[in-house]
This record gives sequence, structure tokens and C-alpha cells, in this order.
Amino acid sequence: MRTNNTRWVTGGLVAVMLIAAACGGGGDGGGGDGAGSGDSGAQPQFDAGTTMAELQDKGKVIIGVKYDVPPFGFKNPQTGEVEGFDVDMGKIVAEKLGVEPEFVEAITDNRIPFLEDGTVDLILSTMTITTDRDAEIDYSRPYFIAHGRILVPKSSDIKGIEDLTAGTRVCTALGSTYETTLSKQAPKAELELVDSYSECTELLGNGAIDAISTDDVILTGMIIQDDSLHMVGDRLTVEPYGIGLPDGDSELQQFLDGVVEETFDNGAWDRLYQKWVGRYTGEPADDPAKMTLDQALKLFPCEETC
Ligand code: GLU
Repeated sequence: MRTNNTRWVTGGLVAVMLIAAACGGGGDGGGGDGAGSGDSGAQPQFDAGTTMAELQDKGKVIIGVKYDVPPFGFKNPQTGEVEGFDVDMGKIVAEKLGVEPEFVEAITDNRIPFLEDGTVDLILSTMTITTDRDAEIDYSRPYFIAHGRILVPKSSDIKGIEDLTAGTRVCTALGSTYETTLSKQAPKAELELVDSYSECTELLGNGAIDAISTDDVILTGMIIQDDSLHMVGDRLTVEPYGIGLPDGDSELQQFLDGVVEETFDNGAWDRLYQKWVGRYTGEPADDPAKMTLDQALKLFPCEETC
């Protein structure tokens, strides 16, 4: 099992971002966390024997999130709180269960083991829905659509995937979808696989690597921390995120699908997007409400489990 070693890059810009987010400048009106639909009243009722009823008995739901990936999951060094789009989505799920959320760090490579060994009840950790992963766990319907990109210093000659040639070094997370994407789309480049994305930014900062490749929203967080970086080239992939849950729990899956759908319908999703992503990128999102789980699975057909 990997260590939950969180390394923070606490640049001035990220501090600004964190404070802005904590002040609820995105207009979520919910005291800063953007979570919760504003429903009030009785504790939700679930059939006895369901995971939802069991979680209610426990009074909490344990959710694995990133700790070093603003704006999806990051531990705010000023408050010690975990914040981000995934965290707020987790708070909404907890509210719909009528329990408290407890967040633990889940890096890319331990997300599925954490679900399988019961360390967490759910995963909300920038996790792309793939057919191979779906063989081990289950997913909610897609709640976010990211895209694969490449990040380099503005001074770099690398302008796209075609420039990741022999002798170039590119960093991504161990166990991420980019292990396969890069080995197919940039087979000559040298892959630097690390546990946490903050390690990639450190390596890029000290010149040990030439580029980072992962989801655009994660790279956006890196640019907010360091505006000498930028994204180059076309989108490499479409990466729909799903909430990970233990394999075979169809009642929990249905419940999560309902929660995600409600965020699309009641405006909560739009507020979260604007709060954590839209106001930094100024760009509209790909609409996850238009994608089914089956369509998401087709984007990442099996590599290992078929
Ligand atoms: N979304 C991609 C994945 O699940 C990359 C981001 C991450 O490593 O969390 O593999």
C-alpha cells in the first residue's frame, strides 16, 4: 500500500485561489462548500439491509479524495480542510444519505484497493470510468467530463504530443489512464510514473522532466499555482469521471445515480462547476448529463480484463 504522503506546493497564486474558493466567490451561497441542495427536513429513509441504511447506522460515509489536486480535491494548508469539486460532490452524497462525510486521501493507484479492502465507502478522486476498472468496482453515471492534455513550461519547444519524442521525459501518476494513453500516443517518450501529481510539478519545476500529462482540470490547478506553465496540443482523450463504489452494489449505484442526476437538475452541478473550474478557465464544460455509463465505458474499452 502506498503512503499518503501529501506534498504541497504553496505558491502565492494557489493561496489566492484557496481563499477565493473558501469565501464562496463562485456564488454557491452555501457558506463556501457549495455542497448540499438546500433540502431540509426528515432523515432520508432507506430499506433495511441496503448499504445506504448501513451507512446511516454508522452515521458517516468515508470518501476517498485527492489531497493535492486543486480544484478537485486538495487539503487547504491554511484551514486543514479538504476542498474541491469532488469534495463538494461527496458532501452532497453524504447529505442525501443523512450522514457526515469523512474524507481520506486516495491517490490514483490506491483508489480501487481502498474500495476493495473497505478503507473507504466511496471514491471521488478524479477517477475516469474505464472498462478494466469496471471489472473490479462499480461506477455511478458520469458526473464530470475531463480531457487529456499536456502541460509544459511556456518556454518549452514542446507544442503537442508529436513533440514527445525519444529523449523527452513526461510525468504522470502511476495507475492513471495516462500510463496507457502515453505509451500508445507517445511511445518513444520516457515515462516518469509517480504516486501524486504534486511530485510531477516538483519534477517539472526542477527540470527533471519536460512535460506532465493528465486531465485538463488537474493541469488547470497546476497553472493556477504557476502561471509560467501552459497546456499545449490537442485533447488526447475524453475522461468521464464516475463515483467509485464496491463491485455489485446495484442499490448503492442507483442511489448515487439519483444523487448525481439531481445535481444536474437542481442547479447544484452548475454552481460547483463555476466555483471550482469555470471561473478559472472561463470555458463551458462538456455536459456529463448527456453521457450514460455505457457510453463512458466505450471510451475506455478493456486493455487487461478481456
Ligand atoms: N482521470 C485519470 C484517471 O483516473 C487521471 C487522473 C488521476 O490520476 O486521478 O486515471
